[in-house]
Amino acid sequence: MSADSACMECGACCASFRVSFYWAEAEDGGGTVPVAMTEKVDSFHRCMRGTWSAAPRCAALQGEVGRKVACGIYAQRPSPCREVAQGSVQCQRARARHGLPALVPVPA
Ligand code: SF4
Ligand code: SF4
Repeated sequence: MSADSACMECGACCASFRVSFYWAEAEDGGGTVPVAMTEKVDSFHRCMRGTWSAAPRCAALQGEVGRKVACGIYAQRPSPCREVAQGSVQCQRARARHGLPALVPVPA
């Protein structure tokens, strides 16, 4: 998610997929993501806790999806969270999963 208002009223991508990343993005690898907010995927990767599930929801997500949300570790979030773009295929898929209407893509 981003700090844009559309994301602040959404949060669907934080509750739809496994949010995984290279392990060293966590604080104990020199990165930013609090280790307690992560779980191990394999020797090289971690994911946000709660997202490796049949009903994913990131442990850092606050609020209600589709209404009002916030990321509890916004400045420390991992790269996949920074890279997901509003209106992208991933965004639209996540929104559809939560019954939210598609967004018009935001120009890069
Ligand atoms: S699914 Fe799209 S609109 Fe919703 S929080 Fe993620 S990037 Fe933002
Ligand atoms: S760390 Fe923040 S932006 Fe990333 S999935 Fe969790 S709540 Fe969403």
